[in-house]
Amino acid sequence: MILVLGGTTEGRELCAELDRRGVANLMSLAGRTADPLLSESVRVGGFGGVDGLRRFLVENDVAAVVDATHPFAAGITRNAAEACTALGVRLIRVDRPGWSAHPHAGCWVWVEDHEAAASAVVALGSGRVLLTVGRQHTLDYSPALDGHFVLARAAEPPSGALPMSWRLELARGPFPLDGERRLFAEHRIDRLVTKDSGGEATSAKLTAADEAGAVVVMIRRPAPPDGVELVPDAAGALRVLI
Ligand code: NAP
Repeated sequence: MILVLGGTTEGRELCAELDRRGVANLMSLAGRTADPLLSESVRVGGFGGVDGLRRFLVENDVAAVVDATHPFAAGITRNAAEACTALGVRLIRVDRPGWSAHPHAGCWVWVEDHEAAASAVVALGSGRVLLTVGRQHTLDYSPALDGHFVLARAAEPPSGALPMSWRLELARGPFPLDGERRLFAEHRIDRLVTKDSGGEATSAKLTAADEAGAVVVMIRRPAPPDGVELVPDAAGALRVLI
């Protein structure tokens, strides 16, 4: 059985293709999303750290693990590498290409983490911010950006109240260019804070930011663990598995 650590489009695509080819697989989700897009064979919830994952791999006779989690889901990626190495289970990481080769990447302010991103925005002075860093990290920007207009876009509401000058936009990608252009114009956005998630579903904001003359503050993604077999997408994972 192939265990696919999911929470991404690539994970869903891979499981659908494995199903189509009759290859036994199980998708695993963290359970963060209240209304996940579920298919047939899905388990939900953490494993209980590296030890729990190791137990799960043994008890379920897992032959290979595909880590198709989000590029910024560093914890589960680290755990998967540790558990698979300890057991000698094959591990493939779907490492979606980031945006560092984007035509405008050289003009962006690249930072290491959320704290540095908030400082970079403060250093830019007053401005109107589109914040697309995910529900879990949105409030990391308070109190640093409490004095700014911030349009925080996330698939689900953050777990606390937003500062007075912030607005919440609940939306799930893909985000086409027309809508992104409208968003930048309607809210007069001149700063974009985002993560180097890569992929096409959420990249139109980078074009819209460039057209609007907005400064882009881009958070670098964590490096994948050493020694893991990397593929760029679901098709790549399928090619090495079958
Ligand atoms: P994380 O910090 O790497 O993981 C924290 C813990 O959540 C893990 O130690 C594990 O708990 C559990 N977990 C994470 N992914 C899991 C999975 N696919 N199946 C079972 N347990 C999982 O992850 P995160 O950043 O909170 O992201 C959680 C999930 O959301 C990921 O699956 C990821 O693909 C998806 N996602 C994340 C982002 C993002 O920006 N981080 C964006 C879109 C989607 P145990 O230690 O108990 O096993």
